[in-house]
Amino acid sequence: MYSVNYHRANSVADAAKLLKTGDAKLLSGGMTLIPAMKTRLAAPSDLVDVSRIAALKGVKVSGKTVTIGAATTHFEVSTDAKLQKACPALAELASMIGDPAVRHRGTIGGSIANNDPAADYPAAMVALGATIVTNKREIAADKFFKGLFETVLKDGEVVTSVSFTAPAKAAYQKFRNPASRYAIVGVFVAKGKATGKDDVRVAVTGAGDSGVFRAKTIEAALAKSFDPAVVAGAKVSADSLMTDMHASADYRANLISVMAKRAVAAANG
Ligand SMILES: Cc1cc2nc3c(=O)[nH]c(=O)nc-3n(C[C@H](O)[C@H](O)[C@H](O)COP(=O)(O)OP(=O)(O)OC[C@H]3O[C@@H](n4cnc5c(N)ncnc54)[C@H](O)[C@@H]3O)c2cc1C
Repeated sequence: MYSVNYHRANSVADAAKLLKTGDAKLLSGGMTLIPAMKTRLAAPSDLVDVSRIAALKGVKVSGKTVTIGAATTHFEVSTDAKLQKACPALAELASMIGDPAVRHRGTIGGSIANNDPAADYPAAMVALGATIVTNKREIAADKFFKGLFETVLKDGEVVTSVSFTAPAKAAYQKFRNPASRYAIVGVFVAKGKATGKDDVRVAVTGAGDSGVFRAKTIEAALAKSFDPAVVAGAKVSADSLMTDMHASADYRANLISVMAKRAVAAANG
């Protein structure tokens, strides 16, 4: 084991200051970063723990606006009564992440900053037209996720919260890897007010060879009729989808249709 300096930040300003130390990295739930350090995929000189900063914790719902602090755990997101009422699809998504240990430690801020191509929250953030708030700026989810494990976050930038307008209808369906529980394909469908008008957004995780993306053919079909039956006619091309040991690109393309159909049916209740 190599040595690493541990710092517990008391505030966001404190975290930003501590991040200037050596080759420091933020630590939130540690569910991704600690395994990466154990396997030497990451070797920071310093860890700046943001998981106990009160300002980064909790869910707030004001009218239709939902704000979730970056250090809120998946368990807290899944069980928050206000969120279960305002956007039950997101609470349910959080309940499907990993296992209880992961859900009690892992956080929404850590998940979106990590941008694993099979992570669940990126699909929700894009479909909900969410805003990612950092200590420096506000970033539309459409622009935040850049590629595999890549975001537009700059050095020294701390995600502080995510915020979105609760949609009229939404649902998430995931075909999970039975071992890791990550999505082989996950589809989040949101209808109404996601971007200020009564539109439909469909975001896909687990399948794209550059991470989360919007399934625009399915969106166009659903904008005309928000009915699961129209999804079959809106094919998704396998061209930019991943092929790996779990599933081929063609298999994933078909799964996107199946998951989208189920998500629309669930959103319609
Ligand atoms: C067994 C297992 C199963 C899992 N299954 C799933 C699954 O089904 N679905 C899913 O979506 N995920 C899954 N995960 C990942 C899990 O959700 C992690 O919690 C998440 O990816 C990282 O969140 P974290 O809070 O643990 O972040 P950390 O591991 O602490 O940090 C991850 C990265 O984000 C950076 N970071 C952390 N906080 C911030 C911040 N506030 N601002 C800027 N950068 C920050 C860190 O520096 C680091 O680079 C699984 C993980 C494990 C170990």
